[in-house]
Order: sequence, then C-alpha cells, then structure tokens
Amino acid sequence: MIKRAKSLKDIDIKAEIAKLKNENCAEDDVFFQAMEEVLLSIIPLFKSDKVFQANEKNAIVRRLITPDRVIKFKVTWFDDNQEIQVNTGYRVQFNNALGPYKGGLRFHPSVNEGILKFLGFEQILKNALTGLPIGGAKGGSDFDPRGKSDFEVMKFCTAFMKELYKHIGPRIDVPAGDIGVGGREIGYLFSEYKKMTSSFEGVLTGKPSFFGGSLARPEATGYGVVYFTRKMLELEGKETLEGKICTVSGAGNVALHAIEKLQQFGAIPVTCTDSKGTIYDARGVDLPLLKELKLVQRVSLEEYVKTHTEAQYIPVSKYPKGGHAVWDIPCYAAFPCATQNELTDVDAKNLIKNGCVSVTEGANMPSTKEAVHMMIDSGICLAPAKAANAGGVAVSSFEMSQNASMSKWTFDEVESRLEATMNEICETVSATAKEHGVEGNYVDGANIAGFKRVSEAMMAEAI
Ligand code: NDP
Repeated sequence: MIKRAKSLKDIDIKAEIAKLKNENCAEDDVFFQAMEEVLLSIIPLFKSDKVFQANEKNAIVRRLITPDRVIKFKVTWFDDNQEIQVNTGYRVQFNNALGPYKGGLRFHPSVNEGILKFLGFEQILKNALTGLPIGGAKGGSDFDPRGKSDFEVMKFCTAFMKELYKHIGPRIDVPAGDIGVGGREIGYLFSEYKKMTSSFEGVLTGKPSFFGGSLARPEATGYGVVYFTRKMLELEGKETLEGKICTVSGAGNVALHAIEKLQQFGAIPVTCTDSKGTIYDARGVDLPLLKELKLVQRVSLEEYVKTHTEAQYIPVSKYPKGGHAVWDIPCYAAFPCATQNELTDVDAKNLIKNGCVSVTEGANMPSTKEAVHMMIDSGICLAPAKAANAGGVAVSSFEMSQNASMSKWTFDEVESRLEATMNEICETVSATAKEHGVEGNYVDGANIAGFKRVSEAMMAEAI
C-alpha cells in the first residue's frame, strides 16, 4: 500500500488554514478540498528538505494559498427579446511567480468565487509542472451558453470583455477556454479586446487558428491526457492501451479529444456523458457522430441512440445512488473528463471491483477526496488532473510564443512538443514521488513537484 499522510497535524499550518477558513465563505469548500490535498501531499517535502523547513518562517504556504487578487464585476447584456440580463464576471489572479497569470474562463451557472479559487489554485501547480513561464489564474461567469443563440453568446462575451480587458494583457494575464468557453466564445472575446485596446496581441489563447490560434490547441488537453496515461502505464510496468476497453466521461473538448487519441492508439473507448446522461456503445463510440451532436448541433447525447439503436442511453435519473453509471462499466482505463467531484467513493468502489488498472483525470479534480484515497490504496494508477491535463495550458503557452514571434507552427510540430511535454511531466512526477518516499503515488508526486517549483521562485523574490 502506498503511504500517504492522513491529517494536517504533521505540518505547522493548521492555524493558517483555520484563519483562511474564517476569512472565506461557504462557496470555498471545493477550494479547501483542493488545498488540503496539496498540503497533505507536501508533508514529506517539509520533513526532508532543510530549505523548506527554514522557509516555513517565510509563510510560503500562506502566501501560496492566498490569491494575489480576486476581480469581480457585473456583466449586463441584452437577450434576443431585448430584455436586460445581468450576470457576474470574475477573474482570480492567483500567483505570477513563474510568469504572467494564465488559466481558463468558465461559463457555467455553477460558477462562483470558490470554484474559481479552487481552479486558480490548481492552475498554479499545473502550470509549474509544465516547466513553462506561466503563473496561475482562473475566471469566468455564471452565464450559461447552453440554449442561448449565437447572437446572445456574442452579446454576453462582448459585455464580459468590456470589463475584463482592463485587467489582462499578453505580459499580465492571458485567459483561455474551459467549460462553456470554446473557439466561438474566445473569438468573440478576442474581437472585443481588439476594439477596446486597438491592439492585435496574444491576450487570449485557444483562438481560432485564422487569427493567431495555435494548431492542435483544441486537441491538446484530451490528447495530452492520453499521452500521459501511456507514459504512466509504461513507467508502472502495465500493459499498453492497445485493444483495451476504456471509459470516458464528458462529451466536451477534453472528452472528445481523449476519445480521438485513444482510438488512434488502438484502444476502445465505449462511453461518454453529458449533464443529462451516459452513452454506452460496446463496439466503441462513433466519434464523428459525437462531434456532430456536441460541436455542431449542440444537442443532448440522447440523440446518439436514434441512429445507433444498439447503444445504450442511461439518463442521470437511472444512476445508482451516490454514483455514476459510467464508472460501473468494466474497463482497463478510466478517464473522468467532465467536471469536479464527478467520481465518488461509490464509483471508486465499482472501478476497483471491476479491475480497472488506471484512472486519468482529464477534468479538474473530478475525484472526491474519499475516491482518491480509495483508488491510491487499492493500487490503481491514478494520474491527477494537474499533471495529466496540463497539455492544454502547455499548448496555450506555445500559442503565446507563436503570437509573440508572429510565427505559426505546424500541427505535427505542436503535437510532438505536446507529447514531449506530457512525457516529461509524467517522468518528473514519478521521480519526485520516488524521491520523497511515496513511489507510485502520482498525486503526491505532482503536488510536491509543482509546489517545489513555484515556491522556490517565490522564495527567491522579494515579499
Ligand atoms: P466543455 O464545456 O467542452 O465540456 C464539458 C462536458 O462536461 C460537457 O459534456 C458537459 O455536459 C459535461 N458537464 C459539465 N458540467 C457537468 C456536470 N455538473 N455534470 C455532468 N456533466 C457535466 O468543457 P471542457 O471539456 O473544456 O472541460 C472539461 C473539464 O476539463 C473541466 O473540468 C475543465 O476545467 C477541464 N480542463 C479543460 C481544459 C481545456 O483545454 N478545455 C484544460 C484543462 C482542464 P453538457 O454538454 O450537458 O453541459
């Protein structure tokens, strides 16, 4: 069994955490979940490394878990009925020790300050793991693009950018996409930024390729997730993905491209999900149809079974209590790629029972705390999001380089850099875990390696 600290008492930051909890609101639960996982992981570092022991006095942990600033603003826009709609916009600029703030924008009704603080905090360590010069941030709005007309999405995006543009810039803060923000939204946001600043510059990544977007950026996160898994299975002496049944959740950017790369590697992804239900197609999912339904028509997955009657559609209401149908389908490797806390202890139990060998987190923090412990303890190779889904931000950073040098790399060039980056992250995480006495624990390895990189930079700069 892999050793893992179970409480925070080993590390002298309890008072700091309690203080932070008092200062923050109930929305921050998910932020504390992410923070606690990291703090438990870094205990071995504080125990073994004299530099970190000495720098505890430097309040390095407190400085890292407190965002530099949280920007909150009102977004008003006209809907198609000429009625005024009001949403809230946010940008959490968390840490820029390693480079300009960098992280996606999420448009989803569940968005609040706590969710963005959790995502921004994870982003700091994720960006640090890439080895690239990028800090951590996250932003978004409680606006829901689903069910809105193109015109309404455009109106919202332009209103949102009218506020956000004051706080971002290619050397200050470079947002990108996330849930609900794809190429369409980034295109609208970018054109408003240009109007407000009269400047054509690389202020957003994930742009459509004809105005500065990097080739392979849409594919990067999903492809990177699969590259990471391949490397992890190799390092752990497991069988390759070829010919293996895989389960994937989500049917958005990350899930679709994870499915694509799995198919290219000869694996058989048999599932996908959206917020309403799960598709289980035992022969392997029909990716062109999925893309048509989700990227072009933007409709529910239920439509899939209209043309593939042999596939199963399982609506959310039929899920087992506290669990998700997708994680009860036997598989060799599982890929949660939808949203946070979508894989619970009930799901972890099912995955373990069904002999799953590896779980790779494509979404940010998709596994609950209990599920993480259960999977690690059972010997499942668990690839944490901050390492496994870092391919998206890595290619975003390549997009920044291309924009700064007014150049354009080919798809193959970007993809081969992505592959090298994912392999390197995986090797670093694995080696770090080994070095700190938690061999095979990629969660702790990623947390320690990311924390080390960013905190070393913070210790070297003035307060
Ligand atoms: P998309 O908006 O493209 O897709 C999200 C998918 O997840 C949709 O199928 C959506 O279903 C489903 N989903 C969203 N919320 C829920 C929910 N509460 N319950 C069930 N299903 C849900 O997002 P992405 O694919 O870009 O992002 C997915 C995850 O990956 C997020 O955690 C994101 O932070 C993370 N990520 C994304 C990166 C990127 O480059 N895009 C980079 C790194 C991480 P429906 O269509 O019904 O809404």
